[in-house]
Amino acid sequence: MLKITNLTNAIDGKAILKGLTLSINAGEIHAIMGPNGAGKSTLAYTLGGRPGYDVTGGSATFDGQDLFELDPHERAAAGLFLGFQYPVEIPGVSNLQFLRESLNSQRKARGEAALSGGEFIKIAKEKAGLLGLDMDMLKRPVNVGFSGGEKKRNEMVQMGILDPKLAILDETDSGLDIDALKTVGAGINAIMRKPDKAVLLITHYQRLLDYVQPDFVHVLAGGRIVKSGGPELALELEREGYAEVLAA
Ligand code: ADP
Ligand code: MG
Ligand code: MG
Repeated sequence: MLKITNLTNAIDGKAILKGLTLSINAGEIHAIMGPNGAGKSTLAYTLGGRPGYDVTGGSATFDGQDLFELDPHERAAAGLFLGFQYPVEIPGVSNLQFLRESLNSQRKARGEAALSGGEFIKIAKEKAGLLGLDMDMLKRPVNVGFSGGEKKRNEMVQMGILDPKLAILDETDSGLDIDALKTVGAGINAIMRKPDKAVLLITHYQRLLDYVQPDFVHVLAGGRIVKSGGPELALELEREGYAEVLAA
């Protein structure tokens, strides 16, 4: 589904990713862990197409298409979802408006008919229920005044509604208490653990991986994947720290 080969990039001329190679097949959940400043968020932004994150070498294909040939909205319509470490607030735009507009513009780009208000509300209710988010929250402006946990739940509701093929989730566990972590973990499983979907979970800590069990765990350090393994690698990192594991 996603094949990244020898990817290098730069922000303001400064090299951050330095030859990153990673393949993700449909049906797989991959976790990327790594020390602060390793380039984890940079990888997510680069795959999402954020301006200022310039690809300087290597390649990435998504479902066989050259990812970097697509504009950010085309990547989203093709089924790529990015969950942010810090979800943005959008004053003046209600969550429901925002979600319906996002979904219908993606459907349009794929040549699918727009959903009616009734059809949309039915999906929104179902996904909000899955994430334990009150429907009233969906009537409020996007993320404005939401707690950290509510923002993350809201983002998972958004993911559920958009129903992507590949979700790249950047520190979705940050700022979550244990109950929210469980709910968000269960939501990710319910929405994304399917044979035709895949997830790239970016996380500092192993605790989210207790709820969303990865098939593969990778360590990103110095702009490349320096070690890969199974779920046991995350436990080893938690126990011994990055420095210890990478020196071994
Ligand atoms: P991580 O998510 O792994 O903690 P980041 O991808 O956020 O790491 O950052 C990787 C490196 O890129 C860091 O050295 C950081 O200072 C630098 N960096 C990230 N974003 C920017 C930016 N907008 N401008 C300049 N440097 C940046
Ligand atoms: Mg960081
Ligand atoms: Mg980060």
